[in-house]
Amino acid sequence: MTRTSLHTPGPVNVPPQVVEAMGRPMPHHRTETFQKIVEGANAKLQRVFQTNEPVMTLATSGTGAMEASVCNLLSPGDKAVVVSSGKFGERWGQLTNAYGIETEIIEVPWGEAVDPELVAKTLDRVRPKAVYLTYSETSTGVLHPIEELARIAQERGVLSVVDAITGLIAHPLPMDDWGVDVVVCGSQKAIMLPPGLSFIALSKRAQKACAEAKSPRYYLDLRKALKKWEAADFPYTPAVTLIMGLDRSLDLILDDGLDATLTRFVRMSDRCRAGLGELGLEAYTSSPARSLTVARVPEGVNAKFVLDFVERNHHIRLAGGQDSLKGKVLRFGHMGYLKEDDVEAALAAVKDALEASRKQVTS
Ligand SMILES: *Cc1c(COP(=O)(O)O)cnc(C)c1O
Repeated sequence: MTRTSLHTPGPVNVPPQVVEAMGRPMPHHRTETFQKIVEGANAKLQRVFQTNEPVMTLATSGTGAMEASVCNLLSPGDKAVVVSSGKFGERWGQLTNAYGIETEIIEVPWGEAVDPELVAKTLDRVRPKAVYLTYSETSTGVLHPIEELARIAQERGVLSVVDAITGLIAHPLPMDDWGVDVVVCGSQKAIMLPPGLSFIALSKRAQKACAEAKSPRYYLDLRKALKKWEAADFPYTPAVTLIMGLDRSLDLILDDGLDATLTRFVRMSDRCRAGLGELGLEAYTSSPARSLTVARVPEGVNAKFVLDFVERNHHIRLAGGQDSLKGKVLRFGHMGYLKEDDVEAALAAVKDALEASRKQVTS
């Protein structure tokens, strides 16, 4: 099987060093050997999340940590505000509704970043317990102004919860400095692991809310996970293999340095956006994230043709649009084991696909 390079906004290419770490003999999870790995990984997670508070690792996809940040903070009948500007913002609303939370949704047109003033006014009117935000909205490629939104929430005593699943690492997110209460992440994005782990960091205020919340919870009960975290342990069997990979991938990220990594994401996304512009693909948003680039499919071009052509002839997998954007946009992920040269390869592949598409139309 020819190897296809994933230029998708998750899952991503996993570095060979991480694959090697995951292929080592598996320790039992209740041994000192494994506990040492967990202690190391936990400390590195805190550095990457830029927090002194616990960052818990769950054996779920990213949505599991999103759900945990609803059922652990709120009780049925509590109020929450959700900022929704795409598929993942919508997911926050579906989750709060599932737990009987009185939810006010701020609907932002897809492709636009939320106006902080509108969030401030809504929090003043609704007086919710928590506000659920998305840093990088992966369905549209929009980056929301989290630093400002977190400050607005903090000034009003509202817990700020950030889906940073494609936000973390690719964009600045000093959790403690910005006063963010909950940061949620997933393994198959900029953390460069296979899918299967999620991460959730809780501020002191969020930990207090967790102790008081009355929503039903069992597997995702963070009271148990917090207690175990202190001892580098887990309430249930952890995903041992992925955690061995995690320890290694965090080393790679921290060895490069968080600042150098941010710079790389800026360069890759700038180059991708400019290169697509040269090919006649207009950027979907004027508030772009760095973890991915989203561009409109030109008139008369079939998105599926481009995706299939690029995969078949160039062994590069790009992503199309989701829901209402299906067929209308192409999404280029910059996360995972990719470098600037890979952006050039993706641009060349798309150029080739567009030429083939035009030939097809005219023949
Ligand atoms: C990938 C992603 C998720 C989580 O999806 P899972 O499939 O549950 O891992 C959530 N939010 C955003 C912004 C994402 O990019």
